[in-house]
Amino acid sequence: MRRNPGERGHNPDLRSPSCSIRATAVRVCVTSVNNQNLSQRDQAVIWHPCTQMKDHEVLPVIPIRRGHGVWLEDFDGKRYLDAISSWWVNLFGHANPYINAAVRGQLETLEHVLLAGFTHEPAVCLAERLLSLAPVGLTRCFYADNGSSAIEVALKMSFHYWLNAGQARKTRFVTLANSYHGETLGALAVGDVDLYKKTYAPLLMTAITAPSPDCYNLERGESWAEHSTRKFLEMESILAEHADEVCAVIVEPLVQCAGSMRMYDPVYLTRLREACDRYGVHLIADEIAVGFGRTGTLFACEQAGITPDFLCLSKGITGGYLPLSAVLTRDRIYQAFYGDYTAQKAFLHSHSYTGNALACTAGLATLDLFEKDDVLKRNRVLSGVMAEATKSFSDHPHVAEVRQTGMILAIEMVKDKLTREPYDWRERRGLTVYRHGLERGVLLRPLGNVVYFMPPYVITPEEIGFMAEVAFEGIQRATAH
Ligand SMILES: *Cc1c(COP(=O)(O)O)cnc(C)c1O
Repeated sequence: MRRNPGERGHNPDLRSPSCSIRATAVRVCVTSVNNQNLSQRDQAVIWHPCTQMKDHEVLPVIPIRRGHGVWLEDFDGKRYLDAISSWWVNLFGHANPYINAAVRGQLETLEHVLLAGFTHEPAVCLAERLLSLAPVGLTRCFYADNGSSAIEVALKMSFHYWLNAGQARKTRFVTLANSYHGETLGALAVGDVDLYKKTYAPLLMTAITAPSPDCYNLERGESWAEHSTRKFLEMESILAEHADEVCAVIVEPLVQCAGSMRMYDPVYLTRLREACDRYGVHLIADEIAVGFGRTGTLFACEQAGITPDFLCLSKGITGGYLPLSAVLTRDRIYQAFYGDYTAQKAFLHSHSYTGNALACTAGLATLDLFEKDDVLKRNRVLSGVMAEATKSFSDHPHVAEVRQTGMILAIEMVKDKLTREPYDWRERRGLTVYRHGLERGVLLRPLGNVVYFMPPYVITPEEIGFMAEVAFEGIQRATAH
């Protein structure tokens, strides 16, 4: 339906004096933009993600003018070190010259073409390269355009595989307590973070939830490996009981990122892989956050020496440039969908921007950077620097634990160090750390009472020092009374 052009901007309050949309469709800004006027205009029109908008009455959004490396700069010239890689997507810094050049080059030839019936070079190259880097046995790449969609794809593919294989009873999924897989309804259903899930419970399929192997609550003297192995026993009995109705187990390998950066031992994944095979259940590895070098290896599954049946990738896949996701799977699964059209076995799932050419190009440039610079080796050094910079944090009277897996380091603030009684969430202690960080020029965005670092891999040791110093001050301030 076409709208009458006169209708545009019928609400005069929404028309900004500084911007006008001319016939040339070029946005022309005539008055100077600063933090204050842009955040006011934002507040009039934008509904932000993961935000109680009323908070912005006291804490305005920060308009970013440009980025460079780990730094973001606002319209008043203030700089912020992006300690969380802009929601875990950025790997090689903002406005990375190499990725910029690659995307710019692609822009001149092809921006996008539908991926049904057509293809393009960046999509083919990226699939080839991802499959060659991924754990052995993954031979097919299905593209989508964001992380949650990749999860939907994996869930549907797993269910549909069993259906095509004549096992229509398999309709359920097993998930881990405290897991997070995205926020579309299917992804939410297999997640377990109340904050995002509880409200929508009436809309969701019910998953079977196994205890998390996370190692925050170790018994005295227990190692991570012992703890995770012990936790596996309950997963084993769930599989023993439910295997005939279960399509797949879905996990975030090694780190439950949105679930407060809780971490566990690779042995759990090794045991889980073996059990899934034994019980005839798929294993879905959601490496959307932990893939691409975050945990010390290119993919976290490598540390357990396993190949999942579905490997979900997004976030860092484009170096943080453009939305893209991929689900890598096995030939056996692909073959179960392959046949005459009239057999009606095909996987008819699609998203408009699936395999977008610019996004795939950013993905290829990102993989180039991994190869050119021996990133994993440098990350081992940087991880050591992060550990060193936070060495004394665990002595703090309100820090229960400092934990780390590769380029993810998390600090858990508690009310009572001995009993580990958490702070009441209503006190919003993490928000105090956030605000302190912004004042000092570091973008930290704690998950509740957990302050964490997940910086771009181009961060320097000096910048890590600064990030840690500001985080510590923030923790002091947040726990002062
Ligand atoms: C971010 C995330 C998702 C969802 O990805 P979106 O692109 O935000 O939809 C899924 N799983 C994990 C582990 C994530 O961290």
